[in-house]
Amino acid sequence: MSNILAVLQDPGGRAPAPEPLRLVQAFVNTVDFENGIEELTDPEALRRTLVRLDILPPELVLGEEDLRRALRVREALRALLLGNNGIEVELATLETLEDAARRGRLVVRFDGEHRTRLLPDAAALDGALGRIVGVVHTAMADGSWPRLKACPRHICRWIFYDRSKNRSSRWCAMSVCGNRVKTTRYRRRTVET
Ligand SMILES: [Zn+2]
Repeated sequence: MSNILAVLQDPGGRAPAPEPLRLVQAFVNTVDFENGIEELTDPEALRRTLVRLDILPPELVLGEEDLRRALRVREALRALLLGNNGIEVELATLETLEDAARRGRLVVRFDGEHRTRLLPDAAALDGALGRIVGVVHTAMADGSWPRLKACPRHICRWIFYDRSKNRSSRWCAMSVCGNRVKTTRYRRRTVET
């Protein structure tokens, strides 16, 4: 899982999320809305990304329906992560993720020490998406989940890991998004008055 994780740039000098939550962050940040850069442009690009994230065997071929499903799950995860920033999560979002868990056939695996993990029994894309949803479950159980957030600035929505003491970070980077929102508000106020 090293390549993409190493090259991903997190704004504001934030350190990436800890493992295994980093997988969720890396998958959802495969699009940069602000700069108009989509990594998952076609099934082959999706395959390459999932192989790089180490959740898909390299020899598999994916189709258009796989791409549609992966994008649906990615954006449902983003919506769930906006929920960690105070934005209401719709029922459809949860249903999409529950469907991914069902198709991935998540099962409890013991690591031989003191831990269990939810891992997919399904292969191919179902297994890859199931693996990601399994990590969400693990992170919710270990308490790290609420720190992973989507930036609420509409054109940003980048996923960042909030390491602040009281978990109060709102923007991916105050210098990038927080200030722009403030500036916009200031300008609006100036125009209004
Ligand atoms: Zn942002």
